[in-house]
Amino acid sequence: WSSTNFPWTKELEAKNRSKFGNRSFRPNQREIINATMSGNDVFVLMPTGGGKSLTYQLPALISEGLTLVVCPLVSLIEDQIMHLSQANIPATYLSASVEWSEQQEILRDLMLCHYKLLYVTPEKIAKSDTLSRLLNNLYSQGHLSRIVIDEAHCVSQWGHDFRPDYKNLGVLKQHFPKTPVLALTATATARVKEDVVQALGLANCIVFRQSFNRPNLRYFLRPKTKKCLEDIDNFICTNHFKECGIIYCLSRMDCEKVADKLREYGHNVSHYHGSMDPVDRTHVQKQWSKDRINIICATVAFGMGINKPDVRFVIHHSLPKSIEGYHQECGRAGRDGQPSSCVLYYQYSDYIRVRHMLTQGVAEQTVTPRGGYSNSHEQALKTHKENLLRMVSFCENDVDCRRLLQLVHFGERFDPSLCGKTCDNCLKELEWVEKDVTNIARQLVELVTMTGQSHSSSHILEVYRGSVSQNVKKQRHDALPFHGAGKHLAKGEAARIMRHLVTEGILIEDVKRSGNIYGSISSVLKANQLKASELRSGKHSIVLKFPAP
Ligand code: ADP
Ligand code: ZN
Repeated sequence: WSSTNFPWTKELEAKNRSKFGNRSFRPNQREIINATMSGNDVFVLMPTGGGKSLTYQLPALISEGLTLVVCPLVSLIEDQIMHLSQANIPATYLSASVEWSEQQEILRDLMLCHYKLLYVTPEKIAKSDTLSRLLNNLYSQGHLSRIVIDEAHCVSQWGHDFRPDYKNLGVLKQHFPKTPVLALTATATARVKEDVVQALGLANCIVFRQSFNRPNLRYFLRPKTKKCLEDIDNFICTNHFKECGIIYCLSRMDCEKVADKLREYGHNVSHYHGSMDPVDRTHVQKQWSKDRINIICATVAFGMGINKPDVRFVIHHSLPKSIEGYHQECGRAGRDGQPSSCVLYYQYSDYIRVRHMLTQGVAEQTVTPRGGYSNSHEQALKTHKENLLRMVSFCENDVDCRRLLQLVHFGERFDPSLCGKTCDNCLKELEWVEKDVTNIARQLVELVTMTGQSHSSSHILEVYRGSVSQNVKKQRHDALPFHGAGKHLAKGEAARIMRHLVTEGILIEDVKRSGNIYGSISSVLKANQLKASELRSGKHSIVLKFPAP
């Protein structure tokens, strides 16, 4: 796809220069454009800042007819249209906030192909008859040149940002089978990718994926203590004095508290969250964009669609909700390619807090009229909890390269020696020894089975280490054959083996609900019987690396 001999190559290069002011293409941009211009369905995985917009805006410009772009947020759409109009590229969007008469005018102009791009939110696709009439007309005249699904991971319930209206976007391929679809995302595990491809009906799509490694970002995890804010102050003064950064906080109140304290320390800082007046919020964002404010203490609401290239640090004051979320939030640092830092403050009790918030948040949105939970929402909550647990195990891991842990999560292989000591774990310079732990793995799997496949991994680990806590005694798990069999293991070793069993799919994380539908949900381990029997029979052995004592 990298050929420069396509019929459109000359115009492509000329317009890239004249309209967008770019001297060349970034990795994969030319390839993606060639593939979609050739009429294929294309799926693009590209990290934030990689330059996804160009891969559909340029084709829109050099194709006949209209490109439809589905985008999750009106603020993102407005941002894109502003950029496009600065480059003299005719683009518009349909929104409920546009007056009826104006909307009629836009529709007329759309039919006359006066616009090259039309942005819509997925709700519009689902609800607007006017839009579907317009698209049908354009399609039948051969004037619907391309359909773009931006932030395509929102289609998937497995993703960290599922949006119900995205799930129905498959109708586009059904109604307009001849129009090529271009799906774009900056975060996708293999599971999410499969989900998206299926939901959108992109059976034979061409996939472009680029490493999600961000070599210019340094990753550090620090224990969150009472002195966390002093530590943040210290970190910024030492490494990023007067530079620009974002501090992500869990709650609105946290945002304000952290901002107040840092202001006391003399930093130029503001807070940003959903309960603020929209005017104030825009003001804060503008001040920050123009470098009048250095630091923003924000909830995760801040960031999507923000394009500031010189963000030098992203600090997580609390636990992110998923590894995808963490990766994307960190990704807002260092878009200009210059070295930047990502610091995460971790304490276990934040896990409980986030977990509680998830349950509340999801419950609020998803109680159905009958008062029960619908299946898909139950599924969504379960997914959120799984995602959160993965984040916890990322934090609890104090030996493996942080880059490796993130990239493995995205299904990439990564040689940790390439990290070059740019994460806290690699800086420790641990020595590694290999150990055959097949026997331990077998015992853990047996414990899971013996206890009825209805307990969490932390409970199983407790039993394995020989705990005689009330809970263990009450369930008589202290009488099991492997109770205490793992007593001799170093701290974290059994957990590491357990993690491996889950990653390999030998053990599966599942959920259990206690009592009625309002009862609490807990995460439990089950065994994959086929894989477990392979482990039992010696067909499968497990050798893992451990830090030398
Ligand atoms: P993404 O959507 O992948 O996060 P964007 O499309 O917002 O990334 O692009 C990120 C930045 O890179 C933008 O400022 C854009 O102008 C710039 N950019 C994109 N492509 C090129 C290119 N070929 N040459 C130079 N700059 C580019
Ligand atoms: Zn590392």
